[in-house]
Amino acid sequence: MNDKQIFDITPFTHLDYPGKLACIVWFCGCNMRCMYCYNSDIVFAKEGNYGVDELYSFLERRIGLLDGVVLSGGEPTIHDLIPICRKIREFGFSIKLDTNGLNTEMVEALVEEGLVDYIALDFKAMNGKFGYVTGSSRYKGFTKTLEFLVSSQAQFEVRTTIHSDLLQPEDINIMMRELKSYGYCGPYYLQRFIETRNNIANMKSPESDFDESRLEGTLQIIWR
Ligand code: SF4
Repeated sequence: MNDKQIFDITPFTHLDYPGKLACIVWFCGCNMRCMYCYNSDIVFAKEGNYGVDELYSFLERRIGLLDGVVLSGGEPTIHDLIPICRKIREFGFSIKLDTNGLNTEMVEALVEEGLVDYIALDFKAMNGKFGYVTGSSRYKGFTKTLEFLVSSQAQFEVRTTIHSDLLQPEDINIMMRELKSYGYCGPYYLQRFIETRNNIANMKSPESDFDESRLEGTLQIIWR
């Protein structure tokens, strides 16, 4: 990966890190190819606009103005986040990580060193549909991360994007039961696909309805 591994920096958000004013760091590249992904520019970027030194200069100027930093992408864990998070810690910011969960080792290392405060773990699809939705055959990578997080003291949430031509309520019911079987008891955040100009599989708005009344009560569902 090029030295300029950061595609872009959103200087301010109060939506992406619960309870905190934060910036978002968008890392280049991803180890998935989700059909509905509207960050395809970031996923396919070989080079971003910023290197880590530029990120650090930016953050230094934000001390006292922001509470936290959101690491997103793309998939941030394909980069070596350890030195980056140590530096962010030195500046005194909280850190939230958005991840698809495929790089368990990186997530473990970050949690064990106390370098992340909150993790949003994407649950893309159950095993039977995972490859189709994500272009990745590494479902077990995701479950390994889920298993680790459940057994750790880490604060985390699980979330799923719904495109009803890909996932129906029966699929979400299976996914909730799967989460429960791993010991996850927290809220399950669902967000609907939003049609944008470009996404990886050029998906349009769903043709099928998503009948929420068919969802089971296995977990508390929160729509975003
Ligand atoms: S939606 Fe999928 S392809 Fe897009 S950045 Fe997230 S994990 Fe990668």
